[in-house]
Amino acid sequence: MIIATKSSGRALVAAPTLSGKLVKEAQALAARQTAPYAPGERDELIRQIKELLQKQDAVLVAHYYTSSDLQQLAEETGGHVADSLEMARFGSEHSATTLVVAGVCFMGETAKILNPEKRVLMPDSAATCSLDLECPVETFTEFCDAHPDHTVVVYANTSAAVKARADWVVTSGIALSIVEHLARQNKKILWGPDKHLGLYVQKQTGVEMLIWQGSCVVHEKFKAEGIKSLKARHPDAMVLVHPEAPLEVIALADVVGSTTALIEASTKNDAEKFIVATEPGIFYKMQQAEPDKIFLEAPTGGDGATCESCMRCPWMAMNGLRNLKQVLESGVNEIVIEKSVRRKAIIPLKRMMDFAKKCT
Ligand code: SF4
Repeated sequence: MIIATKSSGRALVAAPTLSGKLVKEAQALAARQTAPYAPGERDELIRQIKELLQKQDAVLVAHYYTSSDLQQLAEETGGHVADSLEMARFGSEHSATTLVVAGVCFMGETAKILNPEKRVLMPDSAATCSLDLECPVETFTEFCDAHPDHTVVVYANTSAAVKARADWVVTSGIALSIVEHLARQNKKILWGPDKHLGLYVQKQTGVEMLIWQGSCVVHEKFKAEGIKSLKARHPDAMVLVHPEAPLEVIALADVVGSTTALIEASTKNDAEKFIVATEPGIFYKMQQAEPDKIFLEAPTGGDGATCESCMRCPWMAMNGLRNLKQVLESGVNEIVIEKSVRRKAIIPLKRMMDFAKKCT
């Protein structure tokens, strides 16, 4: 059942609510990967994985939100650590016949859509994303069909099936440019699934959009009041915020941007201290690039918070050395996408990638 509400001229559309039970289940699965290692276990896992990657002609691509162990391993073995689009792009350009995607399911799917001839494996193919979960293809299609005069723009954090229904895919790094481009052509825009990113894009561009009401369980929990009081204690700190956070948090930011943009901001800026409102996996790359700078976690918490103490994405945390080794040994968790879905999903993805090339 789709309910459209209008507020301050913005149309928002109710998304299926994500059950806290799913988050708890993901946290329980993640605990198997984050459990302390027995003496020598970590080193032995790393040694075995390095061997297996070679034997299987496989390359590891890891998202910035995965554990430092996985990011380090990707770097040490000729793989790559990046945001979702760059992960897929790297996979396309690399000669390995198997891509191992340490991240969440839509990232594995995107890699497969762009590299259909390659085998794409994931440490845990049940690692998903609240934005993907809150945007089931059936209800989203119903919503799109009810607005046939709208151009459908979806965030990368969606299933292959949802991408197949879209006209454009965007990442947080390119969303503003694409929406402005469409607005110049007088297109009406239907946006999904992240309401916070959608409201941010709408505010920055002045383009009214029909917005699906999904959200990220991690970024939604950042609290403006907490950031204000942290900033009061560290007035010299720059505030870096990912645009999946609510508008009142974004309003406190010195820099708003994608994971890649936030890492760049932490290196290109002279500030010595940063308050960072995104998943803390990003600290690995920030500290690697700037070991002498100080990075503070922006506070989360409050009623219903899922990650009060750590802001960790429960699905990203399902990736670990243990299941990475298992998947390389067994070949399970291979990403398979129906041909008809892949053929449609690649169109809006390529459209975005071609647009990005023209912009650079
Ligand atoms: S951090 Fe949020 S947007 Fe990213 S994978 Fe996790 S739930 Fe999805």
